[in-house]
Amino acid sequence: MMEHLKPGTESQARSRYRELKKMLDERRREIQAEVKGKMRHVRSEGAWGGKQNEVLDAVESSEADIQGDIEFALIQMKSETLNKINDALARLEQGDYGNCFDCGEEIAEKRLRALPFAVRCKECEEAREVAEQRERQLAARRGSSSLFFDM
Ligand SMILES: [Zn+2]
Repeated sequence: MMEHLKPGTESQARSRYRELKKMLDERRREIQAEVKGKMRHVRSEGAWGGKQNEVLDAVESSEADIQGDIEFALIQMKSETLNKINDALARLEQGDYGNCFDCGEEIAEKRLRALPFAVRCKECEEAREVAEQRERQLAARRGSSSLFFDM
């Protein structure tokens, strides 16, 4: 495949790789910082809440627990995103990241910036949505006609 590429194409691929890597790295750093910040927040609140619990009544301390649960859920969500980013970075290294699952074309960088985990290009995603919509309409029509025949 490579020998058929026009001169200059390889460096274009390399600059796309660099841009996508930078984008994913930045996102990873952002989320890591957020998670670290939240962890510190939860921990310091816990230490402070320890003494505070003696004067808090049952209702207030259970509210504090719920708050902790929400924070924990947020951290969990962030670490899942972090996993996806690590996954995307690994795929980028293998040259599997950023290509459309359906047509194999490169997914536009703009689209990947907005949706880093997109697996299809805009065209294929739209075609898919249209096809799904048509399928739903057909199913609805089939549903109503079989209902009609049943009567
Ligand atoms: Zn496509």
